[in-house]
Amino acid sequence: MDYFNELRNKDATLVAVSKTKPAEDIMRLYDQGHRDFGENRVGELVEKHQALPKDIHWHFIGHLQSKKTKEIAEFIHLIHSVDSFKLLKIINKEASKNNRTIDVLLQIKIAKEASKYGFTFDELISDLQPGKYENIRFRGVMGMATFTDDKDQIRNEFKNLVLYNNEIKATHFRNQESFNQISMGMSGDYEIALEEGATMLRIGSLIFGSRD
Ligand SMILES: *Cc1c(COP(=O)(O)O)cnc(C)c1O
Repeated sequence: MDYFNELRNKDATLVAVSKTKPAEDIMRLYDQGHRDFGENRVGELVEKHQALPKDIHWHFIGHLQSKKTKEIAEFIHLIHSVDSFKLLKIINKEASKNNRTIDVLLQIKIAKEASKYGFTFDELISDLQPGKYENIRFRGVMGMATFTDDKDQIRNEFKNLVLYNNEIKATHFRNQESFNQISMGMSGDYEIALEEGATMLRIGSLIFGSRD
């Protein structure tokens, strides 16, 4: 089944999550015109960036350690997984050193399970000061639903992310056209994510096969 061709025609940007997969797998999609790929480890991403065509848009989707930010600051297209004010500060600094603006999404906790990473909605509303980060462009939000078979629960979590997005946009990014991305939906739940308003899907195993 060719999920790739089906998914790339959806109403959302397809980020093909290529973590653990070899360069040949990426090039197979690249040769069909695809440019957006997602990775969750800095070391692996840096190696792939060096080895592969320079017009690939690399998306960082995993937890980013502050001290590793400098390794990707020069080329990263979008960081989906910004999960602390400390990290925002470092990204801003590294972006400035590289004379560029880095696009980010704010990762927000929406899952019921105790997830380690992500802002709470409340702390963003009360403490986010976008103006402090001159070299960051805030593009929207990202979230991961609970890993469960309960579709209603997944749907509710995605609905919450959309509500959070709308509220944060209204309070902190009013009149900012570029704050317009909602990254949600993986192989197991992308259909629900699309129905609830995802603008970016992050899909790995459905495209590349399962990871060992
Ligand atoms: C691995 C990963 C994905 C893709 O997962 P699949 O289930 O293989 O589609 C999406 N988002 C994040 C944050 C991931 O770490």
